[in-house]
Amino acid sequence: MLIHLKLTGRLLYVEPREPLDAHTHIVFHLDDGHQLRLWDLRRFGYIKLVPSGRLEEMPELAEFGPEALEMTLGEFKNLLVTKKRGKVKPLLMEQKFISGLGNIYSDEVLHYAGVQPTRDVSTLMEQEKELIYEGIQTILPAALKHRGSSVDLYVDIYGRQGQYVPHLQVYGREGESCYRCGASIKRIRLGGRSAHFCPNCQR
Ligand SMILES: [Zn+2]
Repeated sequence: MLIHLKLTGRLLYVEPREPLDAHTHIVFHLDDGHQLRLWDLRRFGYIKLVPSGRLEEMPELAEFGPEALEMTLGEFKNLLVTKKRGKVKPLLMEQKFISGLGNIYSDEVLHYAGVQPTRDVSTLMEQEKELIYEGIQTILPAALKHRGSSVDLYVDIYGRQGQYVPHLQVYGREGESCYRCGASIKRIRLGGRSAHFCPNCQR
């Protein structure tokens, strides 16, 4: 089974007595008496059945680069070498390049590394590449430990919101003070998305 929750999808592990609402599209009856429900407000999410043993061949999976938490520093540096130019934040968010970083965590990783989101990858120094890698390996596990950032409709399988938002350093903090240096956090438009950064800590 291949599951993509897209923008507003939720997988919910619930007691069968929980009322079904209009946004519940699929219900699995589990052996332990619970139900696993696919809930999706916008209906962009999907569940596809894949013949056993053919998961690797699915085009949906071929679109993804290495998992952010499963690559070595050497692999990350090699990937960057393949990209001659382009702004660093949109690159980090490109799932064909690395999978697992979206709008929130690319902002947080670049603040950790002290690199501005608009920097061209061709200008990154070795030490900055290492700090970006270290930021990925530090921030993603911390966010996972707090069950993610519920800045929108995201909840976990038990319907609980993620608790990482109070730990965010720049994302969603436009005009507020940088926790590290006190400067005002800036928000700009970049590649059709927003980017948040500290103009003092990030160069
Ligand atoms: Zn700062």
